[in-house]
Amino acid sequence: MNKQVVVIGAGVAGLTVAGALAEQNIKVILIEKEAQTGGHVRNWDRLFPSRRHGSEVMDFLDSNLTKQVDIRRGVTVSSIVRTQNGFKVTLANDDEIDAACLILSTGFQLFNAAKKEEYGYGIYDNVITSAELESIFKSGKEIATKNGKNPERVAFIHCVGSRDEKVGNLYCSKVCCVTGVKQAIEIKEILPHCEVFSFYMDLRMYDRNFEELYYEAQQKWGVNFIRGRLSECAENPDHTLIIKTEDTLTGKPLKMTVDLVVLLVGFTPSAGTGEIVKMLGLKTGQDGFIASADEHFLDNNTDIPGVFVTGAVKGPACIVNTIADARATAQQAAKYLFTLKTG
Ligand SMILES: Cc1cc2nc3c(=O)[nH]c(=O)nc-3n(C[C@H](O)[C@H](O)[C@H](O)COP(=O)(O)OP(=O)(O)OC[C@H]3O[C@@H](n4cnc5c(N)ncnc54)[C@H](O)[C@@H]3O)c2cc1C
Ligand code: SF4
Repeated sequence: MNKQVVVIGAGVAGLTVAGALAEQNIKVILIEKEAQTGGHVRNWDRLFPSRRHGSEVMDFLDSNLTKQVDIRRGVTVSSIVRTQNGFKVTLANDDEIDAACLILSTGFQLFNAAKKEEYGYGIYDNVITSAELESIFKSGKEIATKNGKNPERVAFIHCVGSRDEKVGNLYCSKVCCVTGVKQAIEIKEILPHCEVFSFYMDLRMYDRNFEELYYEAQQKWGVNFIRGRLSECAENPDHTLIIKTEDTLTGKPLKMTVDLVVLLVGFTPSAGTGEIVKMLGLKTGQDGFIASADEHFLDNNTDIPGVFVTGAVKGPACIVNTIADARATAQQAAKYLFTLKTG
């Protein structure tokens, strides 16, 4: 088929959709704004639920890219114009590409934890995010507080930037509960004597093998799960942290001193996606992520014929769901190209 597809964003979704189209002998131009492909997963160490290394997933996705996929790294899209035959995509380096259809896989952005000022992120040294903890695991560095000691008590805080009317995000980010459970286990593996507490609203262990991981965290590793939302975090002169919550099961206020606080930050729509939404005049949902043409029947289509969406650009999703979604998108895009050819 001589019609080519432009895929914007080379994370798990973009790499999967590109590989699946190439398998069908369809030419793909894959545009990635960063110097490296892989998106967020490039920064994760071991993945829930199996604790397989993120690099294994990356290698698998790369192995599916044939010469049919032309990857343009370190470049963004400066304009997209509709033409008679599809779209003209102009890149920031002035390259122009004609595409029969477009697939948007620009993913998500992490919630900026500094917006929850009362949690002290960016103010207190020993308040970090789950993404930062993941980088520590990946680097193989010791888990230490700013005074260089291993923490004796760690608190994980769920729903940071999600399910929170105050910050304007009502949705659940889906994967932070299980990320927190996985990371709590990993801390216990490295520091068996460290006490680990997890403060949650509900535990949403929605997918296969997630609930089992939660059981493992409690039964094998003794992680303490407390139903309660953090109201504020303050710092002691020795840089330990005082966290105040209410145990919503017992109704009692709770105050605790810990050495390290890990904020489980959620997903937000990425700034890069916002620019493309404007260029094309696409619709977004109340949550700010791109809206599909129909939630059941046309989940990978948008209201604009020939513009498809896949992965976390539509909202929070884990890798398994993202890969499945991207494969479905490739199928829909191939069908669309076939219709153009025969129509
Ligand atoms: C802390 C944390 C830990 C996680 N751990 C796990 C785990 O263990 N297991 C699991 O299943 N899931 C995990 N996830 C979820 C996982 O990260 C997502 O499922 C996955 O990243 C979604 O892939 P994506 O390709 O849709 O988006 P992304 O990973 O966001 O990739 C999007 C890509 O598009 C690029 N891009 C953006 N804008 C533009 C633009 N304008 N032009 C060109 N390129 C652009 C970006 O640079 C990026 O490469 C975790 C999430 C978080 C927050
Ligand atoms: S997955 Fe868990 S931590 Fe994340 S927003 Fe949903 S309930 Fe909160």
